[in-house]
Amino acid sequence: MIHEILPVGPLQCNCSIIGDETTREAMVIDPGDEIEDILALVRKHSLQVKQIVITHAHIDHVGGAMKLRAATGASILLNQNDYALLKMLALQAAWIGVPDPGNVEIDRSISTGETVSAGSYTAQVLHTPGHTEGSICLYFELEKKLIAGDTLFAGSIGRTDLPGGNTQKIMRSLHATVLALPDDTVVIPGHGELTTISEERESNPFLMKR
Ligand SMILES: [Zn+2]
Repeated sequence: MIHEILPVGPLQCNCSIIGDETTREAMVIDPGDEIEDILALVRKHSLQVKQIVITHAHIDHVGGAMKLRAATGASILLNQNDYALLKMLALQAAWIGVPDPGNVEIDRSISTGETVSAGSYTAQVLHTPGHTEGSICLYFELEKKLIAGDTLFAGSIGRTDLPGGNTQKIMRSLHATVLALPDDTVVIPGHGELTTISEERESNPFLMKR
């Protein structure tokens, strides 16, 4: 598996490029910004981007999606529960002081029970509402990797005080879905350092049983 992780934009969203070294097919997850840098890595590995997967519709994760679609022809996938947030991109841009990226068109909604693939690498889609209503994680079971979006971070969890956030829902998603994954799963959070399920189960102060 080719897996490049690059922090993009002022909020340093972890964008993942996942590629199949045989078929050269790829997916890009959360192209929030710095599309030229993402495309440079795509070209370096001679990849063809087939899908753009958005973990949730916050601007730092979705802001560059249309630019990447225009450059690659790939389709954009997002859970439909975040379509409302997507309509607020101009407002989100004003909050963090970045240019309005304009309208983002979603080609298809994805949710639990579905999979997304880059060549022979397949991830299960896990709908994990809480940070936003439409937040998803991508679970590569064979490769033991979880792309967690802003649901789980090393030592922290996603904030729930923004529109669409819900503390009860994120706790339910974390305990019922995310912590149900095997201990040795590597977690690639939406921001910051990588971690593992066991590390977070044992030491994340937000996940301690009281
Ligand atoms: Zn977010």
